[in-house]
Amino acid sequence: MSSRIYLSSPHMGTLERRYVEDAFASNWIAPLGPHVDAFQEEFARCVGSPHALALSSGTAALHLALQLVGVGPGDDVLVSTLTFSASVNPIRYLGASPVFIDSERTSWNMDPALLEEELATRARAGRLPRAVIVVHLYGQSADLDPLLAACDRYGVPVVEDAAEALGSSYKGRAPGTFGRVGIYSFNGNKILTTSGGGMLVSSDGELIQHALKLATQARDAAPHYQHSEIGYNYRLSNVLAAIGRGQLLVLEDRVLARRANHAFYAKAFADLPGIAFMPEAPWGRHTRWLTTLTIDPEAFGADRETVRTALEKENIEARPVWKPMHLQPVFASFDRRRGSVSEELFERGLCLPSGSNLTSQELERVVEVVRAVARNPVRRTGS
Ligand SMILES: *Cc1c(COP(=O)(O)O)cnc(C)c1O
Repeated sequence: MSSRIYLSSPHMGTLERRYVEDAFASNWIAPLGPHVDAFQEEFARCVGSPHALALSSGTAALHLALQLVGVGPGDDVLVSTLTFSASVNPIRYLGASPVFIDSERTSWNMDPALLEEELATRARAGRLPRAVIVVHLYGQSADLDPLLAACDRYGVPVVEDAAEALGSSYKGRAPGTFGRVGIYSFNGNKILTTSGGGMLVSSDGELIQHALKLATQARDAAPHYQHSEIGYNYRLSNVLAAIGRGQLLVLEDRVLARRANHAFYAKAFADLPGIAFMPEAPWGRHTRWLTTLTIDPEAFGADRETVRTALEKENIEARPVWKPMHLQPVFASFDRRRGSVSEELFERGLCLPSGSNLTSQELERVVEVVRAVARNPVRRTGS
């Protein structure tokens, strides 16, 4: 059987290993050190934020972000329903409740009209949320201007989950830098990886200082160990920051490679009925972190699961689009505003292998399987 084609696998550049060797040579094998400082500075410059704090994961960054904007027990937090569970879990860590907002069709991200409706309804009832988490999905920014305007109108802070959107733009700027706090992820399948890691950015230096303190077990400034609040062990290792510095140097290459994958698939499937790629919204650059499409089973002749299982049989990893959070058993009891767009995207959506290190032969293998299903469609009911 041919070797496995992964959805999105790590892709090292040339300097990562040298930086890691430097960490060893200097014995900075700790969750602090010169590579952590340099990674933070270089990352901040890369996204155009005055401050950045390296953390052990994107989830840890979001947990701190929510705490820093004041989310606590009993609060409500509005969040995109079409996302990965890590966007929502930290709301629950803090004893707050998520309220799920559906997607629009231009970028598949949070619908500004629905957010405005939800905020207006809540303002009238005196039940404004403590924060709104805007997620930027699959390498593309949400429509930030109207989302931020709605939140501004009601004085609700915005936390941006840009875990999937490093390298993308919104009107020339990096998503993640528009809200009060933004977070990024360097998990193994993201566009850049440190094997595991995250970053928190904000233009508020005091907020970042407080985040650093919380991430370091909340030690007060005292010669002995003294604590006046509850802290976490959330800092990034100097060894992993060394990997991150090398990765940051190849970000633009990685974006271009992923966009080229998308262009390849788009051309290869141009004549197939019933296939529609995730749109690239007019407001910025989509990195195509994952190439994602929807399959209309009537027009295509087979549904998404048929295509996915045909790929799996050929040892090719493809995944359904995120299952909306309002459909997840663990979040079923929480409120939502609509949900049919995200439900349709889940039912029909498929993420194709999208790594920046895919070869043209591997891309061809994916294309052949999808085209074979199109030639010999299997009709199925339901998914
Ligand atoms: C990956 C991801 C996260 C979590 O990041 P980790 O570094 O894996 O903790 C959060 N939100 C979204 C949308 C993600 O895709």
